[in-house]
Amino acid sequence: MTLKKWNYVKKEYEPYEIPNDWNVKTYSEDTDEVVTCPHCGRNFTFGDGYTSHEIHTEHGFGYTVCEKCYFGQEHERYMRYKGKARTIR
Ligand SMILES: [Zn+2]
Repeated sequence: MTLKKWNYVKKEYEPYEIPNDWNVKTYSEDTDEVVTCPHCGRNFTFGDGYTSHEIHTEHGFGYTVCEKCYFGQEHERYMRYKGKARTIR
């Protein structure tokens, strides 16, 4: 399955391959549904996830990622990007 991942440096989406059996979701009616984090492949319940800043659908909806990735790698890249954006201006 190919998702889209935002590249802050290039300012464009890059194709992001994940295994077909990962249950990645942007939305679930059931907050207890077990979904897969598209960053790390860990399973967690939908209600414990966060909307990704980076991994999106064709239409720009963010997939649900695990807490660890959201506050870890995504937050780091986001802050680095924000820091850079500030020095440019
Ligand atoms: Zn994760």
